[in-house]
Amino acid sequence: MSSQPKGPSVLLRRLREVMAEPLEAQKRLDTIVTDIAGNMAAEVCSVYVLRADSILELYASQGLKPGAVHVSSLRIGQGLVGTIAVSARALNLNNAQKHPAFEYLPETGEEIYNAFLGVPILRAGRVLGVLVVQNKANRIYMDAEVEALETTAMVLGELIATGELEQLSSKGITLDLSRPLNMEGISLSDGIGLGYAVLHEPRVIVTNLFNDKAEDEIDRLRQALVKVQVSIDVMFQSGNVAAEGEHRDVLEAYRMFAHDRGWNRRMEEAIINGLTAEAAVEKVQNDNRARMMRQSDAYLRERLHDFDDLANRLLRELVGKAHGSSISIVEGDHIIVARNMGAAELLDYNTKQLRGLVLEEAAPNSHVVIVARALGVPVVGQLAEFVSNVEHGNPIIVDGDEGSVMLRPPLDMENAYVEKLKFRRGRQKQFEAQRNKPARTKDDVDITLLMNAGLIMDLKQLEASNAEGVGLFRTELQFMISSTLPRPGEQEELYRHVLDEAGEKPVTFRTLDIGGDKVLPYLKTLQEENPAMGWRAIRLSLDRPALLRSQIRALLKASAGRNLRLMVPLVTEVWEINQVRDLIKKEVELQTRFGNEMPRSFELGAMLEVPSLLWQLDELMQAVDFVSVGSNDLFQFCMAADRGNVNLANRYNAMNKPFLRILKTIVDKAQEYQTPLTLCGEIAGRPISAMALLGLGYKSISMSPIAIGPVKAMLRSLDVSNLREVLLPAIESTSEQTTIMEVLTDYADKHGIPY
Ligand code: PEP
Ligand code: MG
Repeated sequence: MSSQPKGPSVLLRRLREVMAEPLEAQKRLDTIVTDIAGNMAAEVCSVYVLRADSILELYASQGLKPGAVHVSSLRIGQGLVGTIAVSARALNLNNAQKHPAFEYLPETGEEIYNAFLGVPILRAGRVLGVLVVQNKANRIYMDAEVEALETTAMVLGELIATGELEQLSSKGITLDLSRPLNMEGISLSDGIGLGYAVLHEPRVIVTNLFNDKAEDEIDRLRQALVKVQVSIDVMFQSGNVAAEGEHRDVLEAYRMFAHDRGWNRRMEEAIINGLTAEAAVEKVQNDNRARMMRQSDAYLRERLHDFDDLANRLLRELVGKAHGSSISIVEGDHIIVARNMGAAELLDYNTKQLRGLVLEEAAPNSHVVIVARALGVPVVGQLAEFVSNVEHGNPIIVDGDEGSVMLRPPLDMENAYVEKLKFRRGRQKQFEAQRNKPARTKDDVDITLLMNAGLIMDLKQLEASNAEGVGLFRTELQFMISSTLPRPGEQEELYRHVLDEAGEKPVTFRTLDIGGDKVLPYLKTLQEENPAMGWRAIRLSLDRPALLRSQIRALLKASAGRNLRLMVPLVTEVWEINQVRDLIKKEVELQTRFGNEMPRSFELGAMLEVPSLLWQLDELMQAVDFVSVGSNDLFQFCMAADRGNVNLANRYNAMNKPFLRILKTIVDKAQEYQTPLTLCGEIAGRPISAMALLGLGYKSISMSPIAIGPVKAMLRSLDVSNLREVLLPAIESTSEQTTIMEVLTDYADKHGIPY
């Protein structure tokens, strides 16, 4: 027996022929194992395929007793084969029976074989099966043989992915690749969405595995690698790292990996073994992904993710001129699947086809989530490693109500969700039916329900939801989705359009809130340690007044002859708002001199988002025409909890005593000074927290338009003064026995209030 494989490239060439021949599935698999055994001078070669029920079934064998095929099976984690499937690592043993995991399967007759080499069959990092060779001799397989068997396993991965082996399974058994997968995450935006997966970072599907000439493929790989290295170096040196949306450390790691010799060597070895350049990238990426999924150390997992991203770049570079690769286009309704993404990137998709969004990361108040919510798109987040399980075009159900996602759902589940969707639509109709009913509580307190918006298309919802106006128009969203800075004329046109659409209903524009996580692709921003507490919003606007002045000018002109309501984000000290007022005054004087018609009336408000204002409430209430509480930011700063940090997303509930005490202080002061008050953060849009706000005394709240129906349904069955009797003592209580959330849900349940 030779200890050297006879050249894996010879084997791969042979397998290419076998894959192309018009053979029955079992015959093809039998031929493959015979060829592998022959090439590797192994007495046994077996393929175990992972089924949806977590069983690894022997699908073909050269050397083991034929009666064992489709009979022998091992659970995942059981025996040597099961151990390989769990660890996604090769196992190379000179005496298999001595290994503690060895499990004796009498029907196979394998007891006479000592040497054992098994490798996982991987696709996108997932284990689909195990490929094994065995020899009687007591020997260890060489590294080159392990590498050769892993490369060969890719061919089997491809074969399993074609679905061809599914027909060999016993009735009712499905393979793991098409296994339905239910995952629990957290709900980021309510609603139900059914559609087909669109991978935000598309995974290139490599269909041509076998090379004709290894040298040519190595050349292709090297050229592509140089291009990727250069593009990363350029990105890095441009000093405009933020503009690329990537953080400097990540790029630093990228750069290091892109030049990593081990990575390059492993890919070149795979080519020498017979793969095309892209198949070689995929092979090494598969190994990395498999390790990444099993890595519990967050830092290392992140680094492996970097490798994964880099391999994707490399694949895309190769695919540019490659053969046999494709990025498939998904027809029908779309569910976007991403690790994370920016708000502007979401808007690049055709929102008409958009039915749902699944994000591995992302926190409830991140801007992509706020935009999705405004679009009425259900979002589920915090699903670790979800992306790796998804193939482009897989059917998915997003249950934003429960915070769960069903991948490749069985038909009965899909039917159940179609029914659920119908029910929801029915409920939506009920909300629409109460559209014209007043937002008045049972004890006759009138509540102003406003909507948040940021794009022209949102304005359509004003009519549909019958909100009383726009309580927050986030002007920066238009800036975020433009590829260049909107010119003053364009801004003016946009604002006029918004006011025209709103008609008689008031619109509160917010001046640009950029900086922090709201990055404009065309504006160089500084790298900051703490961007949320950095040079953002009004701070940036006052230091660089040209942008603010041009926006104010556009707003003044657009509001000619009408009322202009303007508010300022992230006010920290009262003088900031006074400076804005001065700036506006100067602009009005200038425009009047030019003969431009100015607004009929004007109101200036401050957003209360920074805790320092809590100790300037007397001054603040007198300095402004209205105050709007930005509870998303106020909460993050009061709790010292980054609103975009996924690890903190569930740690503190906004319905907690300290935060509600703060919100109460604000409402009391506003009443004392008779200053109109609104709250426009995300808590206004959830019926249960909106109920608490009304209990505290808030009479005007602004939310995403989709929330108006449910919030109105809640308040129309609420007796506010009765709730106050329960809620106010609860938030003042020093007992830790019940949480405020429990107090609220108990109250709602007891009084039949929908939430
Ligand atoms: C807020 O902070 O609550 C708010 C409404 O503003 P944004 O979410 O845009 O920061
Ligand atoms: Mg804010």
